[in-house]
Order: sequence, then structure tokens, then C-alpha cells
Amino acid sequence: MSRLSIQPTKYRPIGIVRRVDQLGRIVLPKSLRERYNMDVEAPIEIIVSGDNIILERYREKCIFCGSIENVIKFKDRDVCTSCVGQMTQHSRIQSQIQ
Ligand SMILES: [Zn+2]
Repeated sequence: MSRLSIQPTKYRPIGIVRRVDQLGRIVLPKSLRERYNMDVEAPIEIIVSGDNIILERYREKCIFCGSIENVIKFKDRDVCTSCVGQMTQHSRIQSQIQ
């Protein structure tokens, strides 16, 4: 199972500096949008790490473990199949105890 983790040492500047406009917006260069397949309305997640603000393409993450693999919707929440399996096992054990 993989987890998202912020690893600042992997980040590197790419020589692009943009200014925030009066409404707090910045424009991502077209070349970047094309390179990372970011169409109009593509969801972007804002992550902070110390003094850094990181823009990341949004992916559904498990609300319990943060995994982005095998994530399903359950009651409008994102949960990975691994956590679903653990909850199922936990539920069986609880029912055996009672
Ligand atoms: Zn999970």
C-alpha cells in the first residue's frame, strides 16, 4: 500500500515565477498544464509543508490511511479496499466476542 507523503527534498524549482493577482489567483503556465494533463476544471489540492505551498493534482484518498490506491466511495466518503477489509475483519471479531 502506498501513502502520499511530502518529501521536500524531491521538489525542485523549474525557473517559473508567477505573481498572485488581486483576487489571490496565479496562472499555471500552459506548458505545465499540458505536461500534467490538467484540463479546465481539473481539481487541484493545496498542501502546506512548513513554509511551502504545494499544488497537487487531486486524487481521491482513503479517509483512514491516506492511500490513493483502490479507493472506493462509501456513503460519499473515500475508503480504500484495504481499510474496508480491515473494518470487515474487525466487525467479524467484534460480533464473535458479543
Ligand atoms: Zn485506507
